[in-house]
Amino acid sequence: MANSEGFVVVGAGLTGASAVRGIREGGFLGRIRLIGAEAHRPYIRPPLSKDYLSGSADRESVFVDSEAWYVENNIELFHSTTVTAIHPAEHRLDLDNSMPIGYDKLLLATGSAPRRLTIPNADLDGVHYLRTLDDSETLHNLLAEGGRSLVLIGSGWIGMEVAATARTLGNEVTILERNPIPLADALGDELGTMFADLHTENGVDLRASVVVESIAGKDGRATGVALAGGEVVSADLVLVAVGVIPNIGLADAAGLAIDNGVLVDASLQTSEPDIYAAGDIANAYHPVAGMRLRSEHWANALNGGKAAARSMLGEKVSYDNIPYFYTDQFDLGMEYSGFGPLTQGAEVVYRGDRAGREFIAFWLAGGRVVAGMNVNVWDVNDAVQGVIRRANFVDPARLVDENVPLESL
Ligand SMILES: Cc1cc2nc3c(=O)[nH]c(=O)nc-3n(C[C@H](O)[C@H](O)[C@H](O)COP(=O)(O)OP(=O)(O)OC[C@H]3O[C@@H](n4cnc5c(N)ncnc54)[C@H](O)[C@@H]3O)c2cc1C
Repeated sequence: MANSEGFVVVGAGLTGASAVRGIREGGFLGRIRLIGAEAHRPYIRPPLSKDYLSGSADRESVFVDSEAWYVENNIELFHSTTVTAIHPAEHRLDLDNSMPIGYDKLLLATGSAPRRLTIPNADLDGVHYLRTLDDSETLHNLLAEGGRSLVLIGSGWIGMEVAATARTLGNEVTILERNPIPLADALGDELGTMFADLHTENGVDLRASVVVESIAGKDGRATGVALAGGEVVSADLVLVAVGVIPNIGLADAAGLAIDNGVLVDASLQTSEPDIYAAGDIANAYHPVAGMRLRSEHWANALNGGKAAARSMLGEKVSYDNIPYFYTDQFDLGMEYSGFGPLTQGAEVVYRGDRAGREFIAFWLAGGRVVAGMNVNVWDVNDAVQGVIRRANFVDPARLVDENVPLESL
């Protein structure tokens, strides 16, 4: 019978969770199946490197919805189930643990996986990655009492957040970074240096411009990290945080168009009819930026899932949220909005107290604001996003003047 299989969402992360909620709340009465490889119902990942890792957030607070919500809303949630193949022509999916299932419309929300190290001994016990709730609990158990030595390989957002949490819990923390300045690719040298200083001031041993050669070990356990030149930095545990890779194998094998993620248009539709993609895997055309963007952040999972739901329900959707993310490290909290790729070579100007780490940074490209970051300044994010969205030519002198309302720019 036509239209009897309903909607299927593959990947029970935040994108999948927001999508099934959006589909149901959008009035769809048919069958909705949410299929996830993990043993848990959908949860959010940002606390896994921050307050859940430290132990100050309780377990229930990380889940997106209660178990009861899925029952009450008649969402069929498949735990511990991996989709192994998609057959677009037949509108059918293969599962690893049961019979194939059909779909009328399909959303791919398979997210990302940590990039693995391939250096010698990288698979020794004591070498950790952080992506899942279980990973975070393992690390919490190792770090919560303090007094351990943690060596982090990589100083991206997750590495820096774990460093801050682990240090705050009373552990010795060393960060090994191959670039001269952490986060410089995302923020530029000046702001990357601000984060480096923050960590150094708080007792993190930040070692930049180093080359990690292998994991040192004894009796099958990691005991440190060997650097080019022969030095071994000793460690009770090692965390590898060298970025993530989008899980696009399923989409690729099914013949969907792929290029730095699953290619989708502004309505989040893939190259195949009735198949959509959102969240970390989607490389979507962004109508405001005028280019394709793939965002590996929480807000894109939340909003992209909702937008995909509307699109699947037949609404005309143009997903144009300004990319957004945040971080909390020691006493510094920040929100960043904007188009990272457009900030390369842009001029950075500051409104507020830069030395005191209470300011808003703006990236100006061709006279327009393409990104903004508020550091320890709150309730300005909507206004910052407004400046980016309006894309007016802005006088830098007015941009940095705290007396000029952002709404007027
Ligand atoms: C520790 C950590 C801290 C973070 N902190 C921040 C932060 O502070 N701010 C921020 O903006 N972002 C943060 N992020 C990033 C943010 O969490 C991600 O962008 C977001 O989780 C992406 O959501 P998603 O649903 O697209 O993918 P995911 O969260 O990766 O979920 C995808 C799910 O799909 C499942 N899956 C994959 N393949 C299959 C398959 N074939 N069959 C069935 N299931 C499958 C996976 O197991 C996974 O559960 C953080 C991420 C981590 C790991």
